[in-house]
Amino acid sequence: MAQHGSLCRTFRYRLHPTKLQTQSLLLQQRYQCELYNAALEERIGAWAWERRSVSYFDQCRTLTGLKDFRPEVVASGITLCRGTFRRLDRAYGAFYRRVKSGESPGFPRFKSASRFDALRWEDTPGWKLNTQLRRLYLKGIGEIKANYHRPLMGVAKAITVKREGTKWWLYVSCVNVPAMPLARACSEIGIDLGVVNQIATSDGELKKGQHFGSQTQKNLARAQRQLSTKQRGSLRRRLQVEEVARLHCKIKNQRRDAAHKLSRQLVNDYDLIALEDLKITNMVRAPKGRPDPEQPGAYLPNGANQKARLNHSIHDSGWGQLVSLLSYKAASAGRTVVSVNPYYTSQTCAECLHVDAGNRISQEDFRCLSCGHYDFADINAARNILRAGRALQASACDG
Ligand SMILES: [Zn+2]
Repeated sequence: MAQHGSLCRTFRYRLHPTKLQTQSLLLQQRYQCELYNAALEERIGAWAWERRSVSYFDQCRTLTGLKDFRPEVVASGITLCRGTFRRLDRAYGAFYRRVKSGESPGFPRFKSASRFDALRWEDTPGWKLNTQLRRLYLKGIGEIKANYHRPLMGVAKAITVKREGTKWWLYVSCVNVPAMPLARACSEIGIDLGVVNQIATSDGELKKGQHFGSQTQKNLARAQRQLSTKQRGSLRRRLQVEEVARLHCKIKNQRRDAAHKLSRQLVNDYDLIALEDLKITNMVRAPKGRPDPEQPGAYLPNGANQKARLNHSIHDSGWGQLVSLLSYKAASAGRTVVSVNPYYTSQTCAECLHVDAGNRISQEDFRCLSCGHYDFADINAARNILRAGRALQASACDG
C-alpha cells in the first residue's frame, strides 16, 4: 500500500527578472557551464591518467579554493556550484545505470553555453523565497519578481532557476510535504497504451491520446516551413527561429496541462491504477531482425518502422510525464499505482484467460479462439493489465 506521511514534491513558479537581472542570470549560467565542463574534464582526466574516480564530494571540496582565483563563479553561492556538480554527478550516475542494464548510452558530454539553461542551488543558503512579497532573492543577482500563484507545501530544500525560450521559471524542491489522502473511490482501473496514440481503459473507454493543441501543431508546421525560406544570418530568420521556439514551448505547456488534468481525474476516481511497464513494453515490442534467407547479411522488413512510430507516439502522448504526475498525485492521495509486465496482455482473453497469438485478429480487434469473446484489442489488454495489477497488489499485501 502507499506510504502516508511526508513526501517530496516540486513546485513551479514563473519568474519575471528585470533586464539587468536577466543579464546577471545569463552570465551566471555561462560561469556554471564553464564549471560543469571543467568538472567533467577533471573526472575524465583523473580516470585517463591515474585510473582514479572523482566523486561529487571530492569536487565540492575544491570549491573553497575557487573563491580566491575565480570569485565570479562562486558569487551566487557555494550551493549553486554544488548544484552544478550534482548535475554532472547525476549524468554520470544515469550513464552507469544504463550501462549496467545492458544499454549503450552516450558518455556525459561537454555542454555549450547556449544549451546550459538551468541554475541549481543544491541547498538552502544562497537564495530565499519571500512568499509574502512574492520575491525570490538570489545571492549576487538580487530580488526577482515571482508569480507566487499557489502556496508551497512542506519545507523548501533546493531550487532550480531555468530559462525556457525567453521565459524564466523557478522550481522549488520541497520535502516533508504532507499527504492529503482522499476517501476511498471503490473503483479500480487498468490502462493500456495503444499504438495509435490513444489509451484504452478497462472500463471500456478509448481516450484519444494527447492530440491537444493540434491547431498549435499546425501553426508550428507552418512556422517551420517559413523558417526554411529565410536567408541564413538575416534578421527575419532570427525572428522566425524565436517564433518556432515559442510554439514548441506552447505545445509543451498544453501537453503538461492535459497530463495534469488526466492524472488528477484518474487519481480522484480510482483506488488502484494499473499501467503497463513501459520499459518492458519497449523490449517486448522491439522487432527482432529477420535475416533474408536468399541474401546472406541482408534483412527482411520487420516492422521496425512501426516500432519507430510507436516510440514516436509514446513520446508524443507524453506517457512518461503522465506516469510521473500520476505517481506523485497518487502518493499524496493514498492511491496505488502499479506497473505490470505487459507480456501476453494483448494475446490473453480477458474473459476466459485463453492465451493465443491468433486471438488478436487485427491491430484493432480481439476475438477469443476458445470462448468467442470479442472486444477492442486495447480494451481487452487494459482489462488484463487491471487483473495483473490486482494480483500484484494482493501479493504485496500478503508479503
Ligand atoms: Zn476467451
